Amino acid sequence: MYVVIEGVDTAGKSTQINILKEKFPQAVFTKEPGGTALGLKLRTMALGGEAKSNVAEMFLFLADRAEHIVEVIKPNINNTIVSDRSVISGIAYATKFPLDEMIELNKIATSNIMPSHVIILELSKEELISRLSQKENDSIELRGIDYLLNIQNRMKETVKKLNLNHVIIDAGLSIKEIETKIEDFLK
Ligand code: ADP
Ligand code: MG
Repeated sequence: MYVVIEGVDTAGKSTQINILKEKFPQAVFTKEPGGTALGLKLRTMALGGEAKSNVAEMFLFLADRAEHIVEVIKPNINNTIVSDRSVISGIAYATKFPLDEMIELNKIATSNIMPSHVIILELSKEELISRLSQKENDSIELRGIDYLLNIQNRMKETVKKLNLNHVIIDAGLSIKEIETKIEDFLK
């Protein structure tokens, strides 16, 4: 199983991944961006807003993803892998580019290795505003609420276009309720 947890910032990905770590101690836990040594450098550049060019920023994320696939996913493909974000965020966050173009570029970056199970944690506008107001924001989050809601829609569109096995869970449910829905999906 190659499981990925998706959702915009504050959707509850880390919270659920920490629960999965307890349940599946033998699984390989990873993240994008920054799941490899090179990826950590790329992540700092990409999330720090260093790139002036949108194309350069997009390629930083693609480079991170390509390295992650080779270094983490391929060697562990016969184990259970759980990743905090994935190609789906990669495609969804690249809002400056058409979705179909991003899908093609990401097929190259991933050698077409796609997650077997996608969990999308979906926040309502009200809950997103409430959660963001409680944390210090990075440069992407500062782009605003409507920006993040658009990303969320692009995530849903992406899993459909890629025809991926997925579940969309209301991120406003309790931590326990979400845990149960994830467990049911992975069974
Ligand atoms: P992400 O990793 O997606 O950015 P986190 O897991 O860090 O999200 O959660 C963001 C914030 O929301 C944290 O303060 C966390 O405690 C809280 N949180 C997570 N899941 C829930 C939930 N189901 N209900 C209410 N608050 C939650
Ligand atoms: Mg997190």
